[in-house]
Amino acid sequence: MRRYLATLPLLALLAGCLDIPQATAPRQTVRQSTAVLTPRPESRQCLAGLGASRANFTPLPDQYFGAGCQQVNTVRLAGLQSDNASLALSNLGPVTCPLAETFAGWARFGIDRAARQELGSRLVRIETMGSYNCRSVAGSDRLSAHARAAAIDISGFVLADGRRITILGDWTEGSPAEKRFLQLIHASACKRFGTVLGPAYNAAHRNHLHVELSGRNYCR
Ligand SMILES: [Zn+2]
Repeated sequence: MRRYLATLPLLALLAGCLDIPQATAPRQTVRQSTAVLTPRPESRQCLAGLGASRANFTPLPDQYFGAGCQQVNTVRLAGLQSDNASLALSNLGPVTCPLAETFAGWARFGIDRAARQELGSRLVRIETMGSYNCRSVAGSDRLSAHARAAAIDISGFVLADGRRITILGDWTEGSPAEKRFLQLIHASACKRFGTVLGPAYNAAHRNHLHVELSGRNYCR
């Protein structure tokens, strides 16, 4: 129950995430909460890879909330690493280990390097609108990847020189360099994730990039 209560602020945060508009979210009930802190063999390789990226993370116990909503093989990411500095993260909840590992690579090789190349300053913080949210895809019974902590919504980027680039403010209204930066990181996300949805997808994504591993190069 304590863990259930701990998820409530996160769910409130995610209420604004409309990558796939809110539908009838299954009622949140903790059916089972099993502390599995000894990683399964298939998880160990991922955790080792995440560690090798020098991410700051904590493996989380598996939790099943009913109706298919779950946090299995997830980690809490406290920070990532660029080529030569640490990267802070805002508002990120639990994420599956494979997603965290891909996110770490994109942050370093996609986002930070694009920031230095296009904007002349390194990345210091990635702002998100969260990851876990127990809900289904609008108009279907299919659960959103957020219901498995398998998607992240990214809303902005803070640079070492103090600039803050946001999807909402700069995707169409930013300077030419800022828009180039956002187009570049969108393109690099599409090479690493199976599904990337941004402002070009629909109005619900005007303020964030939704990234998840599942999907086959679905890039909008
Ligand atoms: Zn999303």
